[in-house]
Amino acid sequence: MSKNVIIVGGGLAGLSAAVFLARAGRTVTIFERRRYLGGRAVTHLRHGYRFNLGPHAFYRNGLGWNVLRELGIPVRGGIPKPRGVAILGGEQYKLPTNPWSLLTTSIFGPKAKAKAAMLLLRIRRIDPKPYASMTVREWIDANASEERLRQVLEAMFRLATYSDRADLQSASAALAHLRLAIRGVVYVDEGWQKIVDSLHSAAVASGVNFVTSSRVVSVHHDGGSVRGVELGGLEVDVRNDTMSLAMPDMTDPDKGTLIPAETVLMAVDPSTARELAPDLDWPTSSAVTAACLDIALSKLPEPRNTFALGIDKPLYYSVHSKWAQLTPKGGALLHAMKYGEGTEGELETLVDEMQPGWRELIVHRRFLPAMTVSNALVEPEGRSSRMRAVTPVRGLYVAGDWVDEGGILSDAAFASARAAAKAILAAG
Ligand SMILES: Cc1cc2nc3c(=O)[nH]c(=O)nc-3n(C[C@H](O)[C@H](O)[C@H](O)COP(=O)(O)OP(=O)(O)OC[C@H]3O[C@@H](n4cnc5c(N)ncnc54)[C@H](O)[C@@H]3O)c2cc1C
Repeated sequence: MSKNVIIVGGGLAGLSAAVFLARAGRTVTIFERRRYLGGRAVTHLRHGYRFNLGPHAFYRNGLGWNVLRELGIPVRGGIPKPRGVAILGGEQYKLPTNPWSLLTTSIFGPKAKAKAAMLLLRIRRIDPKPYASMTVREWIDANASEERLRQVLEAMFRLATYSDRADLQSASAALAHLRLAIRGVVYVDEGWQKIVDSLHSAAVASGVNFVTSSRVVSVHHDGGSVRGVELGGLEVDVRNDTMSLAMPDMTDPDKGTLIPAETVLMAVDPSTARELAPDLDWPTSSAVTAACLDIALSKLPEPRNTFALGIDKPLYYSVHSKWAQLTPKGGALLHAMKYGEGTEGELETLVDEMQPGWRELIVHRRFLPAMTVSNALVEPEGRSSRMRAVTPVRGLYVAGDWVDEGGILSDAAFASARAAAKAILAAG
């Protein structure tokens, strides 16, 4: 039994941990409460268009990139060019992202341009560690006094981290991710489902067992060690011989299904982790959220308008199909988003500005009002701490974008999955 590992949750974190563990010889079973794997990294196919859940960009050379390379899983797609529009006070300006756009934009006066150029250069090479106890706002206060420059910096931090909480977010985490974002991101061909499917195939090839439509309702532990997990309801959909042979003897009609295990990895969101093991000391964290409008068009009315960033409003707009294979020929898939909370009307107004006439060309659209982009905003050191992958209960581990093994967003999910897998293997 000690070689068996149960993973709760089949998102990116659960899947990548499963591959590490199964390749190292462990018998791994993933329980996923939904019918499908992938969690927030799923892509829905609608009329031939591939919809990620809101705008997803893979950070090149980030921790996730390294984990997938270690697992031999390629990430293919297009690297968007850093050019677009900055929207400020209802006016459009050239977005200052590189020396040329900085020189030619009219968003800054000459003094702010010189300062912006210096800051952009500095951020490219910055060591973020010394800023671990500062918020993003404090870092901006210390480095920029001109109002427009401050607003542009805040917009860039938002773009790189998805968070509009400059007053709360750790400057070192945000600077590290902004540095990564400046080096370039990938819009993934066929959507992030391609990464999910590749991880799934790698997991199947190494013998991982999958039990979908099956919710874990409790993790049992006593005397400081894990004893197993309890499945809820009758939704079990056993796809693997190992589990279907094992389960009938373990069914207690009053309590659900008990599955014994000495090692359990909870690759779920933090509130579910808390529900599953309520007696652990769980730190509190605030989530990073966004409102997203995902739109498929038969063609783009304004093909040149492919990217825009709100400067005085926390808005994002990008035509992902310009760079990645996501649509049938000639079609376009774009994402409009408001960081934090937002209404569908606000996002429609943004698309009206960028693609006038788009409503006549809609193939499919959907509004996602309150997406959890990340389960834990990274706050400055000393103000709040995140959970580590190894918990105080022997045999119990956690992974996800809220677990602190480096990085934010999916980088944190991948990094914590690898850390949990390594710790499990090291435990023998
Ligand atoms: C709008 C949006 C934009 C984003 N953009 C980016 C981006 O550009 N770059 C980036 O790096 N990241 C981005 N992300 C974040 C990225 O999608 C997530 O960090 C990543 O998918 C998290 O993976 P995970 O495995 O940690 O969690 P999840 O994907 O949430 O997976 C958890 C899984 O656990 C399952 N589960 C929960 N409870 C139970 C239970 N009791 N029993 C069994 N199963 C259970 C869930 O069904 C789910 O499948 C974005 C997210 C959103 C929403």
